[in-house]
Amino acid sequence: MCGIVGYVGKESAAPILLDGLSKLEYRGYDSAGVAVFDGDRINVEKCKGRLKVLSDKIDGGNSLKGNLGIGHTRWATHGAPSDVNSHPHTNEKGTFAVVHNGIIENYIKLRSYLTDMGYNFKSDTDTEVVAHLFDHYFNGDMLETAIKMLGKLEGSYALGILSKDNPDRMIAVRKDSPLIVGLSEDGNFIASDIPAVLPYTRDVYLLEDNEIVELRQDGVTVYDMDKRIIKKDVFKINWDISSAEKGGYEHFMIKEIMEQPKAIKDTISPRIKDDKIVFEELTLSKEYIRDIKKIFIVACGSAYHVGMVGKYILEDMTRIPVEVDLASEFRYRNPILSPDTLVIAISQSGETADTIAAIREAKRLGAKVLSIVNVVGSTIARESDNVIYTWAGPEIAVATTKAYSTQLAIMYLLSSHFAYIKGLIDDCKLSEIIKNLDLIPPLVEKMISNKDKLQYYASKNFNSKNIFFLGRGIDYAIALEGSLKLKEISYINSEAYAAGELKHGTISLIEDGTFVIALATQDRLFPKMLSNIKEVKTRGAKVMAIAKESNKEIEQEADIVLYIPDCDDLITPSLAVILLQIFSYYVAVSKGCDVDKPRNLAKSVTVE
Ligand code: GLU
Repeated sequence: MCGIVGYVGKESAAPILLDGLSKLEYRGYDSAGVAVFDGDRINVEKCKGRLKVLSDKIDGGNSLKGNLGIGHTRWATHGAPSDVNSHPHTNEKGTFAVVHNGIIENYIKLRSYLTDMGYNFKSDTDTEVVAHLFDHYFNGDMLETAIKMLGKLEGSYALGILSKDNPDRMIAVRKDSPLIVGLSEDGNFIASDIPAVLPYTRDVYLLEDNEIVELRQDGVTVYDMDKRIIKKDVFKINWDISSAEKGGYEHFMIKEIMEQPKAIKDTISPRIKDDKIVFEELTLSKEYIRDIKKIFIVACGSAYHVGMVGKYILEDMTRIPVEVDLASEFRYRNPILSPDTLVIAISQSGETADTIAAIREAKRLGAKVLSIVNVVGSTIARESDNVIYTWAGPEIAVATTKAYSTQLAIMYLLSSHFAYIKGLIDDCKLSEIIKNLDLIPPLVEKMISNKDKLQYYASKNFNSKNIFFLGRGIDYAIALEGSLKLKEISYINSEAYAAGELKHGTISLIEDGTFVIALATQDRLFPKMLSNIKEVKTRGAKVMAIAKESNKEIEQEADIVLYIPDCDDLITPSLAVILLQIFSYYVAVSKGCDVDKPRNLAKSVTVE
């Protein structure tokens, strides 16, 4: 999970590396480091802490001279965050430097082999074996050495490697960890993600697994593992760097919350033509869709919560049974799949390691895989039978907001599309649904206008030790997301419960003053929620409720009420979740937490 950058070109490398790392800090931020070749030796500077600590240490890059370098911002998997465990890692003589994203799974075996050969290790990382192994196999040719060494590595990796004896080039490779190549007249780049190279170029290569790249100032060559040259197509990035910058907001998270009306619109609009839902990217035949016997949704974190909402919507509209699975469980539990099973994988980054493994397992067992992904050309997108992109633009804050909302929008579109193909809804109903979908962006805008009110409520309740979320049906799925959002960025212990389940034990957690957020947006379940609110109030809870405008009687039970406009029950999740995101954001801000980079978390979870 970490960010890698590399540069070889006409400019001084270190400032470019620091700038690139600043765009990748969302991927990992417990330590950072760079290695730059100065014409004579490879100088490595690295330290525990945020990028700022490194940047101050090397005077914004000015203290390191040279036009060839690699950089890393770490999210530790092997070895605690510390100066010595930070990347880049080197061989003992300091003639090779390596940055790595991923896990070398056979590092213990390799470490003991290398130790027996007389190599001394300085760090506790798995990565250091790469530096020594490269040294061990080095024959003067970096490419040949890399190919030989890669044959010995197991696990996942994106690697950037420098050699003092090859001062005009860098070698990079990816396997199950993301890496792109940026191409420009003045120099060439590697990076874990596009924003790192966007200030310099819009032309990139999207690398496939086991493609080895040799980068020089005047060109880039991509090889396969047999040293054959691979011809790559240049991929043009059509979004702007401003989408990956804060643009005057204090945090990416609030900027991304505000961007949701546009992101949802960009995701829905291109798929509606002449009052019909059109998925040009979908190659699943109508016959196949009509014959689907079961759908599995596999995902992790917030994307899993989209799956929970998806289950309600898909089952309700298509009458196909849906099972939602955590990708990390699905991959190991021997699921029952067949050709008439559709597996829907959801992932913002398209690089989530557990989800990648889950789709591979699904394909091995004969199912078709459709993925909902935000990052174009990512591993999940490439490996799925069908991919539907969310057009949320780059999401930088670790806690997802706009990717979540656009994934949800795809769920509405997909469910309606399948229901229409199955003949379960007619033109008239489809037209009504489309009207509802068109309403989401302006209604989300309206939700955002509650910002100041939510900031006030957050400022009154940020000291809570525990916060509980309650909901029934689709509101329960939203409660789960609200609770995750709150705990991941504010570190307040919070739990979401299906409101009807409360009395079966968990109500014992409610005591005088416990803050409870109750979602009561579903007309059919509203009276039941009123009773549940009453139950927790009776035991001393303070309740903030979310309900539809016309359900004013909720004011008699709840202490605080936030309203969403009267609308179809199916689209209320898209509105209610906005209130929960904003509330969580302001609670975290009130507590002084690092909102965009919560402790121990990283954005794109590319390790198991
Ligand atoms: N496994 C390596 C480490 O712990 C790399 C982790 C990462 O991807 O940041 O240093």
